[in-house]
Amino acid sequence: MAPGRSFGSSRLERRFDADPVICAEGYLFELERRGYLQAGAFVPEVVLEHPSKVLELHREFARAGSDVVLALTFYAHRDKLRVVGREDALAQLNLEALSIASRVAQETDGLLAGNICNTHVFQPGDAAAAGAAREMFQEQVAWAVEGGADLVVAESFAWAEEARIAAEVISDAGLPAVVTISITKQPTTLDGLSAAEACRHLEGAGAAVVGLNCLRGPTTMLPLLADIREAVDCHVAALPVVYRTTPEHPSFVSLEASRPDLVPQGRPFPTALDPFTCDRYEVAEFARQAHDLGVDYIGLCCGAAPHHVRSLAEAIGRRPEASRYSADLSKHAFLGSAESVGRAASLDASEV
Ligand SMILES: [Zn+2]
Repeated sequence: MAPGRSFGSSRLERRFDADPVICAEGYLFELERRGYLQAGAFVPEVVLEHPSKVLELHREFARAGSDVVLALTFYAHRDKLRVVGREDALAQLNLEALSIASRVAQETDGLLAGNICNTHVFQPGDAAAAGAAREMFQEQVAWAVEGGADLVVAESFAWAEEARIAAEVISDAGLPAVVTISITKQPTTLDGLSAAEACRHLEGAGAAVVGLNCLRGPTTMLPLLADIREAVDCHVAALPVVYRTTPEHPSFVSLEASRPDLVPQGRPFPTALDPFTCDRYEVAEFARQAHDLGVDYIGLCCGAAPHHVRSLAEAIGRRPEASRYSADLSKHAFLGSAESVGRAASLDASEV
C-alpha cells in the first residue's frame, strides 16, 4: 500500500486539518503510581481488574486536550501475558481495553486508537522470530479492527525492522498506522539506522505517521526531529518521556540516581524517576519547538500526567476543558498582587 496519503479520507487525516493531533500516553506509569498496576512486567491487567480506573484516566487525558484515546493494550500481547500467567485472558483484555477507550472516544469526539508495541520475541535476521512477532501484531490489530479503531498506534520499537513489520500489518488491515521508534543512548536504531532513515522506511511500509516515542525526554528527542521532518513526506510524531534526560544520559533508563544505595539496582528507572520529572513549562516549551519544526502529531509518553498534557495543548494554541482550572497566580496569597488579593492578605513571596 502507498504511504500515508492514501488514508486521505480517514478520521485521523481529517483531524490533521486542525493541526496538530495531540496524543496522551503514559498510562502504564500513571496507573502504576496510582497503585493499580505492577512495575516490572508492566502488563495492563488493570483493564480487567480495575476498568473504572482506566476509563477515568482516558477521560482525564481527553479533558486535558488529547485528541487520541489510546486503548490500553500496550504489552497486552501474547508474549507478555505469558510472563504473568494470563495468556488465557489475551482476547478478553484486548477487547475490553478497546471497549473502554471507545466509550471515552465517543463521549469526547476523540479518535479511537488500537495499540501494539515491541514484542521481545523479535530477533534480527531470524525469520521465524519475525514471523512470530508478525502473528502477534496480526491478532492484536484484528481486535482493534473488531473494536472499531480509527487508527492503530505501533510504538516503542528499538529495531526498525520490527517497526516495519508492524506498519505492514496495520496497513494490510486497512487502518491508518502511527508508527514510532524509540532511540536508545545511541543515536540509531538497534539495526544501525538513523532515526530519519528508519522513519523513511516506515513511510515506505505504509505508515501514515512516523516518528519517535519513549526512552528520550524532550531535550534529547528534539535534536532528532528536524532530520525526520526532512526525510519524509507524511506526518511526523514526537512523544518524549516526561523526564529530564541529558546529553550524558540521553534515555531515561540511563539516568543516574543521587542515592543509588536507596533504589533497586542503583538506578532511578523505572520506579524512582520522580526527581527527574519535567514540569509543565518544560513540556510547553517542547511542544512549541516540536511544532515549529513541523511535527504535527505531538504527545507525551512515560511520566505524563494530565497537567502535562493540558500544558502541551495550551502551548500549541488549544484551550481544552481542563483549561478552566489553569493556573492564575495573581490570586495567590504570596504571589498575587496586593490589588488582586487585597492589601491586608498580600505577603511578599520573598519573605515566605
Ligand atoms: Zn514510554
